[in-house]
Amino acid sequence: MAKEKKLVEEITSMDVDFAQWYTDVVKKAELTDYTSVKGCMVIKPAGYAIWENIQKELDRRFKETGVENVYLPMLIPESLLQKEKDHVEGFAPEVAWVTYGGLEPLQERMCIRPTSETLFCDFYSKEIQSYRDLPKVYNQWCSVMRWEKTTRPFLRSREFLWQEGHTAHATAEEAEARTQQMLNVYADFCEEVLAMPVIRGRKTDKEKFAGAEATYTIEALMHDGKALQSGTSHNFGDGFAKAFGIQYTAKDNTLQYVHQTSWGMTTRLIGAIIMVHGDNSGLVLPPRIAPTQVMVIPIAQHKEGVLDKAYELKSALLDAGFKVKVDDSDKSPGWKFSEQEMKGIPVRIEIGPKDIEANQAVIVRRDTREKIVVALPELAEKVGEVLTTMQSDMLERARKHRDSHTYDATTYEEFVKTINEKPGFVRAMWCGDQACEDKIKEDTTATSRCMPFKQDHIADTCVCCGKPAKALVYWGKAY
Ligand SMILES: [Zn+2]
Repeated sequence: MAKEKKLVEEITSMDVDFAQWYTDVVKKAELTDYTSVKGCMVIKPAGYAIWENIQKELDRRFKETGVENVYLPMLIPESLLQKEKDHVEGFAPEVAWVTYGGLEPLQERMCIRPTSETLFCDFYSKEIQSYRDLPKVYNQWCSVMRWEKTTRPFLRSREFLWQEGHTAHATAEEAEARTQQMLNVYADFCEEVLAMPVIRGRKTDKEKFAGAEATYTIEALMHDGKALQSGTSHNFGDGFAKAFGIQYTAKDNTLQYVHQTSWGMTTRLIGAIIMVHGDNSGLVLPPRIAPTQVMVIPIAQHKEGVLDKAYELKSALLDAGFKVKVDDSDKSPGWKFSEQEMKGIPVRIEIGPKDIEANQAVIVRRDTREKIVVALPELAEKVGEVLTTMQSDMLERARKHRDSHTYDATTYEEFVKTINEKPGFVRAMWCGDQACEDKIKEDTTATSRCMPFKQDHIADTCVCCGKPAKALVYWGKAY
């Protein structure tokens, strides 16, 4: 038994050291590994399969709204990056440069894309001539590189995977509608598939994307009470269009600038899944994103008929549409249970000689560890029920956790005390002045996460300076 306990003992308790717990889970669930490339990670099969499911589900939702996929180069000539002033200032500190081609120094150095606004703009300036060419609703799945100083698997790495949507529209109204539409696609995806409740809102000017007129965001609360920005959607207005000369001839024959948006989600989401749902036994994957939903674990598999029965159950469950595996390795059942739990597989089915005799199996839920004895003819139906219930329970549990870690503050003293002593979101009124955001960050390290679309009026004055309040803001310490 000593050895069987080892897997769980090897991860730090989340209550003792959440950061170490996270690192341990990422390693023990075999999601990533370190590489010789500093600040970059190997995404291993268990981690990559989660990303593939995220991709599949998001891509389907994108396409339902008319998005088409494209691919652009990973290198951006410096002159192109320089064209939009705010954008280059925002990204310059974390850009990696290519200065040689083979043995020859390049005439113009090129950066490895940190994001592709500039390339899309260059492309659109040639592609768009007439109102008939609009709208353009393109997306690309790729990796980007940002030279981060401190890195953590999934949450912050120098190279990461993402999608970046870039659209061009005839009018400001259309661009604004697309910006909000994509934010809602992200939010629905997080809630329906990842069982992760999010706050939808707008970033303050200080926190918005470099070069954007407005940035909308979804913010989620992790188990340790820190916020994680989980997806953003930006309205660029015609700023980039003017910098890059993206014009079209309108129906009335006048020359007009296009209005643009961009929106992105990244492998950070995997970090969010870990930190919203994980527990001291490891990962807990929501059934709708889990690469394997059911692990069949034979008990006393050396006995006649046990393995055959396990394969039979697998086959029946596959036919019913579930993602199923059998752990037929020669490890002990206890060890297999620990591994299944560590990897966050939502349901395991235990089947042994006594079960076979009684024509039954035991279903065990990963999140609650509830054991359900079920007659074999009803197994597929029951598994479906358990997965559905687990998915909705996980969302509800995460929502309760977030709501019970969301506080209101109306005085600065109360604000500072709450944000320093109680992990979570603090809701407070703000005057709209960046000086107050700066002061709050300096005093507490917390940042404005968003001005929620659902505004409440909890006080008349700014929590920081006492001037008349303009908006309710969610504040928090963030990843
Ligand atoms: Zn203020």
